[in-house]
Amino acid sequence: MHDAARGLQFREKPIFERGSPGRTGVSLAPLDVDPVDARAHFGKQARVEETGFPEVSEPEVVRHFVRLSQGNYAIDSQFYPLGSCTMKFNPKVNEWAARLGGFAKLHPYAPEDLSQGALEVMYRLENALAEIVGMDHVSLQPAAGAQGELTGLMMMRAYHQAQGRSPKRVLIPDTAHGTNPASCALNGLVAVPFPGSADGIVHPEQLASLIDDETAGIMLTNPNTLGLFEEHLPQVAEMIHAKGGLVYGDGANLNALMGRTRPGDLGIDIMQFNLHKTFTTPHGGGGPGCGPVAFKKILEPYRPRPIVQRQVGETGGDTFSLVYDRPESVGRLRTFIGNFGMMVRAYAYIREMGAAGLKSATELAVLNANYVRAKISEDYPVAFDRICMHEVIVSDKRIQKETGIKTLDIAKRLIDYGFHSPTVYFPLVVAGAMMIEPTETESKETLDAFLDAMKEIAREAREEPTKLTDAPSLTRLGRLDEARAARKPVLRWRAQAQPVEKAAE
Ligand SMILES: *Cc1c(COP(=O)(O)O)cnc(C)c1O
Repeated sequence: MHDAARGLQFREKPIFERGSPGRTGVSLAPLDVDPVDARAHFGKQARVEETGFPEVSEPEVVRHFVRLSQGNYAIDSQFYPLGSCTMKFNPKVNEWAARLGGFAKLHPYAPEDLSQGALEVMYRLENALAEIVGMDHVSLQPAAGAQGELTGLMMMRAYHQAQGRSPKRVLIPDTAHGTNPASCALNGLVAVPFPGSADGIVHPEQLASLIDDETAGIMLTNPNTLGLFEEHLPQVAEMIHAKGGLVYGDGANLNALMGRTRPGDLGIDIMQFNLHKTFTTPHGGGGPGCGPVAFKKILEPYRPRPIVQRQVGETGGDTFSLVYDRPESVGRLRTFIGNFGMMVRAYAYIREMGAAGLKSATELAVLNANYVRAKISEDYPVAFDRICMHEVIVSDKRIQKETGIKTLDIAKRLIDYGFHSPTVYFPLVVAGAMMIEPTETESKETLDAFLDAMKEIAREAREEPTKLTDAPSLTRLGRLDEARAARKPVLRWRAQAQPVEKAAE
């Protein structure tokens, strides 16, 4: 039984505190061989002590996890305007494709002649992604955008080393995502931050004095994390290339470019994709992800191995194989060939959309962001108030000055209105930032409902500020001490007064 319920909301003990000895969720056939002592075979490696796992029945375990999932907020349940994260709806046809038996049940050690379809999907996805961004090749191996960055910088380092050089400095604007300097540090490179300009984008003049023989390259996000298009990228790339450096493009914001502009044409040598952002694979939850890297020919020798190779068939169809003999490769980033299920989903999405569909997704993403920008600016000042790309950044500047209400209060109050907050306090260069990325999959009705909530919250800030400082007040739990919750999490059940009453007010 659930331990506390009001209406149809449940609150229950963690799974480790549930169940009773002997209760089980599986039924195995009786043992029809003689039992053996695992220690005789595995020695000390054999685990003989109790696991301490909860003993629960199948319905108990199913209900527990279904309820947990229902306590979550998801793109399948509501608008999710989390800037920089591209929380677009993921079409269910992707899930159908990924669950096809030939893909889902393929063992990673299956021989190549039995894995031809999977290898072909990888080959095709690499080519589609390369075409979309105007690059020569793609490696699907990295498991996330951040690991794509890591891989890209490893390849950049290998490229310099092959020429007998080891420049260490990587220029990174101060608007960059935190993973950029982290990927540098993991590669033994030195991140050299430089401040943004008054109009929010990088200008060649800013860099002239920073680029020297020690410059391994630059990392730029385009559009940048202010939602602005880096107009001077081609000149910047030329300056970097002139000194032997390379241009790394953080491709997390590809949802603003896809089908309209190709990073490869703008001078970028290497970039990552975040398939969960632009290409509708699920946003983790800690699960497997995929963050491919695309690169120009000059970096090809260093790509992770193995690589998928196509042999053109003379009579029948083509065949595909995995090539491991790549002496200059940076090596392997993931077990086997990466998280294949994500590749199937992204490929299904690209094929479902087609070239025209991808282009209109980009156009609608930018249109939606600009619709939000135009309307929201009545109450919240826009950080760089001109046409933006796929996301818009506003601040609490005016409200804070007039009422003392801060971004955090606004974000918490949005929960009472049934919306997930935008990304807050990022990028760091905008004080009290709220970064709103509506994405192309939201309707005008949804955007209007969100904008109405933001407007109402601005009014409350002036007239009924405690509604914001006490927010959220319609949730089961009120405002949490987030630092303490992260540092000293309470993972045990505690009986608690039942707070759903508040909702009834
Ligand atoms: C999301 C994001 C990343 C990191 O990507 P993950 O796939 O989450 O590892 C890097 N840079 C920018 C600009 C991002 O938005």
